[in-house]
Amino acid sequence: MKAVVLNSHGPIDHLNVSQDYSLDDLKYGEIRVKINYCGLNHLDLWLRRGGTGDKLSLPRIPGSDIVGTIEYVGEGVFNLSIGDTVLIYPGTSCGECDECKKGRETLCREFKIIGYHIDGGYSDYIHVAAKNVVKIEKQNLEAWAGVPVSYVTAWNGLVTKGSLTMFDTVVVWGAAGGLGYAALTISEGFGAKTIGIVGSKEKERFLRERGYKGHIVVRSDNLQKEIRELTNNSGVDIVLDHVGQETWKESLKMLKRGGRLAFCGVTTGHQAVTDLRYILGKQLAIHGSWMGDLNDFKEVVQFIEVNENLPYIWKVYNLEEVRDAHQVMEEQRHVGKIVLKVNEEEQIQ
Ligand SMILES: [Zn+2]
Repeated sequence: MKAVVLNSHGPIDHLNVSQDYSLDDLKYGEIRVKINYCGLNHLDLWLRRGGTGDKLSLPRIPGSDIVGTIEYVGEGVFNLSIGDTVLIYPGTSCGECDECKKGRETLCREFKIIGYHIDGGYSDYIHVAAKNVVKIEKQNLEAWAGVPVSYVTAWNGLVTKGSLTMFDTVVVWGAAGGLGYAALTISEGFGAKTIGIVGSKEKERFLRERGYKGHIVVRSDNLQKEIRELTNNSGVDIVLDHVGQETWKESLKMLKRGGRLAFCGVTTGHQAVTDLRYILGKQLAIHGSWMGDLNDFKEVVQFIEVNENLPYIWKVYNLEEVRDAHQVMEEQRHVGKIVLKVNEEEQIQ
């Protein structure tokens, strides 16, 4: 089968399309999914570059955000049929340890991200456990490919751990990016007072064009002052920070007493200085989210279906154009999500 296989870490030319990659045999409880679209995430860049400190083994097929059509149903699968369109939860775990039994797969010692620790969606097919997929309608498939990692992470941080309610004021950093936009959508959907922070006027315009009605603050030296003005000097209840080192201090500062920090990314580095008085005096809670659990995934898929608010797809590339897609993502020339088209929907019986 056709797949983009990463044989060694490095720059973009390390992404190569192979025509004869083969899958392991289908196991009990698994299905074979013919992949239609695969969304890109920053994880894909980290995997390619190999510089995160994670133990990553190669060769590897990248790609965590997968939408496809079931082509074969293995033994022990009763709730899915050939031809069903599915969205794949991008994590796997042992299924037997105490954390797995409690539905906290991301805390399992065997937790692995599809397209990062194990083979993913830059590929014609994937074999995946039936319990890992959610059926979706056969429409807007390319937009669904922008959902899994961003939305499950935002949901885990804001809703599951952050206990988001309509009475909260929520700040979202990088609100025009994949994860930021997901968080903004979720927060607005809950009826919370939502403040998106963006880096430019263009990104502010983008959010307005997408129908976002909440507050927007364009990053400047006046950031804290603007947040104070928007909250009657009280600060905010929840901050979703996926930027890391660069924004950590600001995030702690803008939280009100009893505030919660939903922390889910270290894009700008991981060596931040913490003024511990903020945590002590304001009794802050800091929650880390390394993606989200299967139950978060099922909930957020239902939330998107009910709210009919899918992510914005900036551009769809063919699988063969994977290097161009990585180039754009690396240079941050996009707004919204980038998606690879793997197989035409019409070809699937
Ligand atoms: Zn486990």
